[in-house]
Amino acid sequence: QHLSSPELRRRFLNYFEKNGHTRVPSSSLIPHQQDKSLLFTNAGMVPFKEYFMNPSSAPYRCATSTQKCMRAGGKHNDLDNVGYTPRHHTFFEMLGNFSFGKYSKEEAIQYAWQFLLKDLELPVSRLRVTILEGDQTGYDLWKKQGLTDDMIVSCGPEDNFWSMGDGEGPCGPCTEIFWDTQDESLGQDRWLEIWNLVFMENYRTADGQLTQLPIPCIDTGMGLERMACVLQEKQNNFQIDQFRDLISGLRVWMKQKNIKNYISDDPNPHEKIIADHFRSMCFLIGDGVVPSNVGRGYVLRRIIRRALRSARQLGIHQPFLVELYPFLIKSFPDGNYPELSERSASIRNIIGNEETTFLGTLDRGMALLENVFTRSDLQHNKTIPPTIAFQLYDTFGFPFDLTLIIAQERGWTVDIQEWKNQHVFPTFTGYDHELFHQESAIMATETIQKGDNVLVHVAIDPCPFYGLGG
Ligand code: ATP
Ligand code: MG
Ligand code: MG
Ligand code: MG
Repeated sequence: QHLSSPELRRRFLNYFEKNGHTRVPSSSLIPHQQDKSLLFTNAGMVPFKEYFMNPSSAPYRCATSTQKCMRAGGKHNDLDNVGYTPRHHTFFEMLGNFSFGKYSKEEAIQYAWQFLLKDLELPVSRLRVTILEGDQTGYDLWKKQGLTDDMIVSCGPEDNFWSMGDGEGPCGPCTEIFWDTQDESLGQDRWLEIWNLVFMENYRTADGQLTQLPIPCIDTGMGLERMACVLQEKQNNFQIDQFRDLISGLRVWMKQKNIKNYISDDPNPHEKIIADHFRSMCFLIGDGVVPSNVGRGYVLRRIIRRALRSARQLGIHQPFLVELYPFLIKSFPDGNYPELSERSASIRNIIGNEETTFLGTLDRGMALLENVFTRSDLQHNKTIPPTIAFQLYDTFGFPFDLTLIIAQERGWTVDIQEWKNQHVFPTFTGYDHELFHQESAIMATETIQKGDNVLVHVAIDPCPFYGLGG
């Protein structure tokens, strides 16, 4: 049977509701005000974080949700994977079930296994699980479900100990369920991770100590797009119903404009990047993020500009992003995210403005780069001089990562250290995002005043496009 993604979402939530879970709507991509440890909601458990720490404060003892997630920074950062792996998005939906002290490992495993086998009717022969090495209970519980030894694989903590971020927060051992794509050409990727069941038992304190949570809890997360990919028998997430609408919309528009079109079933990486980033920008703006040169706004700006650069690779030179909007709406037909229609006008406006601003300088920036690639004095090291990278950022609005991607595609590099040495950056406090350490440190700064609930942004670099386009 080929389940559509809205139908999968419905099935999942109904199943857990039927099993006593309270259905909770997705919360925003911007985590709760007080939570400074995260840039974006990156998992279904994020809105429930407090409940794991103090289950008696939870208004329900177990819950189910489909949560909007963004993984474009911090511990979970898939930005560079998009378009090049079969399974990663920046924006995606995470289906989940959560227990705040109501049930434990055994029920969590049972619920998941039953759902996959009975509800979704997946063949057992194509499933495998991983457990944290030494997790004897986990092993025994899977055996109890009838799994044979060869279906249970032990892994180290880098794979099977889950935490939301690198800093303070609830965490714990996990067991993951994999689908066998049976495609040997994929190597390790033959095994597709579809569902992670986290035994929330620990809390990592600010100084890195692992402590026990007062009551063991359960947190699970299943990627909606990945499961849809399995059920719709596709090779990768970008071929499922949700992306089909968006990518065919893009192709139809390109055809109207007489731009050479792709017709292959498997979209070109740039088509994938555009579709992925378009979803992200719409949902981010829908949750109140606006493009800027700091923090969340800067991630949004980078996403938009990366999408525009991919469009340029496909031969699209004019504004087009807002033309995709109706197809995005179409890909969420059950109105699960009313903000998409309610905030349609401002989402489209903000994207349109940002697009116009950047398109004005994209060509000139690309021309500057092309000159660099042909400079004879640089052919030996193939390194873009930091001054050029800075000029691209400063004058042409190229996010540093964009320069890096273009360089990489040509087999060139940019010397990050040299870049840093040439510019003086203030120290960071508060945030623990690799993104901000590496990158905002380079381009814009963000200081979070500890003990204050307001994020204080300080831009230090001269930014000619600062304040433009939102
Ligand atoms: P992977 O190892 O494939 O990167 P993960 O271990 O980082 O996945 P988890 O943090 O365990 O993922 O998240 C729970 C589930 O969310 C995953 O099992 C997967 O189904 C889904 N998921 C995770 N990251 C993404 C992503 N970038 N895009 C789409 N789905 C994702
Ligand atoms: Mg990952
Ligand atoms: Mg994994
Ligand atoms: Mg995982």
